Amino acid sequence: MKVVKFGGSSLASGIQLMKVLDVVKNDDMRKIIVVSAPGKRFSDDTKVTDLLIDCAAKALLLEDTTEIFNKIISRYRDIVLDTGMDDSVISEISGNLTAILKSDKSNPDQFMDKMKASGEDNNAKLVAAFFNHQGITATYVNPKDAGLFVTEDHAGARVLPESYDNLFALRDYSGLVIFPGFFGYTKSGEISTFSRSGSDITGAIVANGVQAELYENFTDVDAVFVVNPAIVKKPQQVAELTYREMRELSYAGFSVFHDEALIPAFRAGIPVHIKNTNNPESTGTRVIRERDTSNGPVVGIASDDGFCSIYISKYLMNREIGFGRQVLEILERAGLNYEHMPSGIDDLTIILRENQLDATLEAKLIHELTHKLNADFVSIERSLSLIMIVGEAMRQNIGTTFRASRALSSANVNIEMINQGSSEVSIMFGVKKDDEHKAVQALYHEFFQEIEV
Ligand code: ASP
Repeated sequence: MKVVKFGGSSLASGIQLMKVLDVVKNDDMRKIIVVSAPGKRFSDDTKVTDLLIDCAAKALLLEDTTEIFNKIISRYRDIVLDTGMDDSVISEISGNLTAILKSDKSNPDQFMDKMKASGEDNNAKLVAAFFNHQGITATYVNPKDAGLFVTEDHAGARVLPESYDNLFALRDYSGLVIFPGFFGYTKSGEISTFSRSGSDITGAIVANGVQAELYENFTDVDAVFVVNPAIVKKPQQVAELTYREMRELSYAGFSVFHDEALIPAFRAGIPVHIKNTNNPESTGTRVIRERDTSNGPVVGIASDDGFCSIYISKYLMNREIGFGRQVLEILERAGLNYEHMPSGIDDLTIILRENQLDATLEAKLIHELTHKLNADFVSIERSLSLIMIVGEAMRQNIGTTFRASRALSSANVNIEMINQGSSEVSIMFGVKKDDEHKAVQALYHEFFQEIEV
């Protein structure tokens, strides 16, 4: 059995739904279909999820929602009309959204999640109606009925382990199961959503639960590229990646697949196959446990901006027991999440996403770190980008760091920081944001340009 997830752009119009139909019909192992909300039809279109967020925000401010409500319904209506279905499903969707809009708003996060989740939930009903209309038996299944339970962290929910056993029963449906992505239910019966793009996570959870042979993730690109095509034109495609490589790459800016979505697939050893709805013949990218690594030390280069570094130095830091713990305690009390912590003998640097740190918090943090730790010097540098070069084969190859730093120095990029984890799956470089593109291009040139596609 295969679990197949279709992203928003694959479900944005009637034409797209016809492609989805072909994909599903082509392989009768494709039994469980996880759907996103309708996404963008063209580059500056708005995703239904974003319309729902706007609508919820207006409702919370007690503003008029008529116009945005109509816009949302017309997105579904266009799809229904395109596919020649009657509009009974539209009445159902419209009734559902009206009821949610009227529901309790005393907990704004809970209300916002209910609105957001309705995008996938209503789309799953629509897609099920579409398959039945096309003569293929399909059943919409609600995550509550299937026992997909999650934590109460709205917009950042985590799956509760018992869900996996509950979901196994999805195997028993005859015909297709159409399952909405992006959300589950808390034990108290409330909707809670995963982080944005979280339908990928649902797909992986369901694949694990039903013990699928394969989790297929259909999107709108042919494959994962070795580097962001917005930075390097027409980069090479990646045929195979290990879970660890994909995890490192998607964390650092590879947006094709949600970084949290790998864990459930990885735990169950289910391969993930990323494919293109608009070009299903293309081979796509397979994410697996082990791969042949003879094609070079680096499999991909990812980068992301919006980081800052906190630099702390203190003479004889290396002899002071508990110094690191105290630093992390200060961060924890300030509610800050850190990403990396490279250290030297007398100094350490903490890298975090800079949007967590406003000017007031920054000043407070510098003050606390300086005085509580008696540090000699504390400074914060903003506007940094992190670049990760990733590849399992780095472990067996000597000189990858040398090649990378040589490429960066030839491109006149100053390396602000460098960090290689003991797993040796990735090397991270911190550079100034202004140098990010130049640096990524130089690294691509070094590791990929000579290799044939
Ligand atoms: N529709 C949601 C979003 O736009 C979830 C998803 O598409 O995966 O984030």
